[in-house]
Amino acid sequence: MIFDIIYLDKYYDTFKEHTITSRIFRHSELLIQLEKYNNKCIIDLIGHSIEKREIYKIQLGEGTKKIMIWSQMHGNETTGTIAMFDVLRYLNEDNPFTNFLKKKLNISYIPILNPDGSEIFKRNNAIDIDLNRDAIALKSPEINILFNNIKSLTPDILFNLHDQKSIYNVGDTHNPAVLSFLAPSEDKKRAITDYRKKTMNIINFIEKNLKIILPGMIGRYYDKFYPTATGDNLQRMGYPCVLFEAGYYLNDLKKIKVRKYNALAILSGLFYLANEENIEQDYRYYFSIPENSKNIIDLIYKNVKIRKKGMEFYVDIGIMYEEKYNIYTNTIEFIPKIIEIGDLNHYFYRNEVKAYGKNYIGKYGKTYPNIGECANFKLI
Ligand SMILES: [Zn+2]
Repeated sequence: MIFDIIYLDKYYDTFKEHTITSRIFRHSELLIQLEKYNNKCIIDLIGHSIEKREIYKIQLGEGTKKIMIWSQMHGNETTGTIAMFDVLRYLNEDNPFTNFLKKKLNISYIPILNPDGSEIFKRNNAIDIDLNRDAIALKSPEINILFNNIKSLTPDILFNLHDQKSIYNVGDTHNPAVLSFLAPSEDKKRAITDYRKKTMNIINFIEKNLKIILPGMIGRYYDKFYPTATGDNLQRMGYPCVLFEAGYYLNDLKKIKVRKYNALAILSGLFYLANEENIEQDYRYYFSIPENSKNIIDLIYKNVKIRKKGMEFYVDIGIMYEEKYNIYTNTIEFIPKIIEIGDLNHYFYRNEVKAYGKNYIGKYGKTYPNIGECANFKLI
């Protein structure tokens, strides 16, 4: 069996879950999607969130290698969930590739570990705990559900699906980090343990394949040890854990392209696990994947004239779009926020406006910007 990323890239539009068209994916949307899998997969109710929303586990495949995947432990990070429903739809097709995966693997998937957060497009749970920092204290019911299921299933591998902010670029290039991966550290020294090597080998296979269709846009996440983080602790407990981060493709705020690459990355990882013994491995390759930098801004206004106390200054103004959920329209609004002022030549940018020294006129005639304000100004 070979892995043909070019074919999957072309075929994706045919197999993807066409009924999901929005980035908003709440518990109510999950229930609609789960209906379709009632007779195709084993679906278990594995617990409830603080606000008593159900948390489910979907299981498919008859293989011996056990994988546990979960998504949306951060309620507003929906790309992994949506990509997984693309993957599930594909896995339910009857073809040699999907049959091979189902024969070799036993896949368990927990969609939306944080359903209360998902309902209002919020990162944390109903009492504002960041589930990804609750691995030691285990205060939230949601993280206990995850850990209990991992302990009873004893998976060989874990996939932890997240979204990352748009500020990340790949290495020292202007390319946005469309996908990033991490083999989490198990200690402060960031030692290269056997479990980390296993995780690195999976990431290496995914990166080598995905970069054929996404050249220069895949990064490696910084591996600082976070003592209370989920991945770091699970890895230390002996469960190799791949962190997937779905970023932003250029001018793709709806994440339609990122969703596809995320789905294909998951399929690459599954293929690796199904075929591990036949794939050449060298964990050291991991360190040649460029590390992410935090050096890209959504929009830069270049050379704007601002005035304060009778003085004039010529500055660049950097803007990032903040995502805000509008509960009444059920849409994501992109609020432009001023995040930096001055010489911003060291930043890469997604879009640029050359102001040529035009005057800054803000709200109520204010002649200068402040960091943190909404970018609500004219240039005249
Ligand atoms: Zn996250």
